[in-house]
Amino acid sequence: MGNILVDLRSDTVTKPCPIMRELMAKAEVGDDVYGEDPTINKLEELSARKLNKEAALFVTSGTMGNQIAVLTHTSRGDEIILEASSHIYAFEVGGIAMMAGVMPNTITGNNGKISPDQLRKAIKPENIHYPKATLLCLENTSNFGGGTVTTLEEMDELANIAKGNGLKVHIDGARIFNAAVYLNIPVSDLVKSADSIMFCLSKGLGAPVGSMLVGSKEFINKARKYRKMLGGGLRQAGILAAAGIYALENLVERLQEDHNLAGKLARGLSEIPGIKVNIGTVQTNIVMADLTKSDLDVNNLVELLKQKGILVNSVNEKRIRFVTHRDISTENIDYTLQVIKQILVS
Ligand SMILES: *Cc1c(COP(=O)(O)O)cnc(C)c1O
Repeated sequence: MGNILVDLRSDTVTKPCPIMRELMAKAEVGDDVYGEDPTINKLEELSARKLNKEAALFVTSGTMGNQIAVLTHTSRGDEIILEASSHIYAFEVGGIAMMAGVMPNTITGNNGKISPDQLRKAIKPENIHYPKATLLCLENTSNFGGGTVTTLEEMDELANIAKGNGLKVHIDGARIFNAAVYLNIPVSDLVKSADSIMFCLSKGLGAPVGSMLVGSKEFINKARKYRKMLGGGLRQAGILAAAGIYALENLVERLQEDHNLAGKLARGLSEIPGIKVNIGTVQTNIVMADLTKSDLDVNNLVELLKQKGILVNSVNEKRIRFVTHRDISTENIDYTLQVIKQILVS
């Protein structure tokens, strides 16, 4: 791809650091389908402890974790409630329909967040014509909302409404540690009202592969069978878990640095004519920017940036997304701002 200097497409692009590679090489391993991989077992115990839940399961990806959660919580024909731009609904290849056979009821929220009133209205009364809603999925932080954070109070209120109506609550917490760091609270507080949580090791936490599904012992036992069914029963996977353990133990607090860089980028962009950023919604490591210069197409801008060694993703015909992460420096952000200014102000 030529000389890529700054990759802001996603926080999934981080490469394992030398320490991670060393720990991976030295990891004690066994057959995890037999429950005999000590490093996987350690990662699962550590994840459960960090979130203050009973048990955890290593899965190959965030998508697999979310899909297993929906399969485990629901029966075919159930309704599940989620936000319209949520990853589970919009970006998992229709898996909830294909595999769990559930009926999505989507709510269009504000920056990816649904309100208590919206949730109350979405839960239908018992009626012979309606499917039964059994699961609420919340995304924290919201990816397409721009990395927006659902607070502890908001979480608890939504979860209470759901539980009062007999729904389970699953959190797509691909970036739940970004939310906890932003709120400056233990992640276990933030997820205490949830029945299950998926979080990614392979995003801001910087591990090369893997996500964790966390919940009660009963939930995880059932989930483990679905993981096997979907082909996610890995063998000497401790090699992967070693990187995840290092990330969980050492790389959570530094997420603040990613948030600081996203803030710097957002402030810089907001001063450039032809591009619009809502600084108020830039809370964590994602910046959504709308192109307002009419003679430039988003895809043109993406291409011009690429020629200067900067990679970003477009979200729609007006919007591009920047994601900061462990392999991005202050100099990278300065360079990106300088290049965008050159393109837009010429
Ligand atoms: C990335 C992401 C996922 C899926 O993770 P993969 O490991 O890429 O499958 C799920 N939910 C959200 C909010 C994400 O951003």
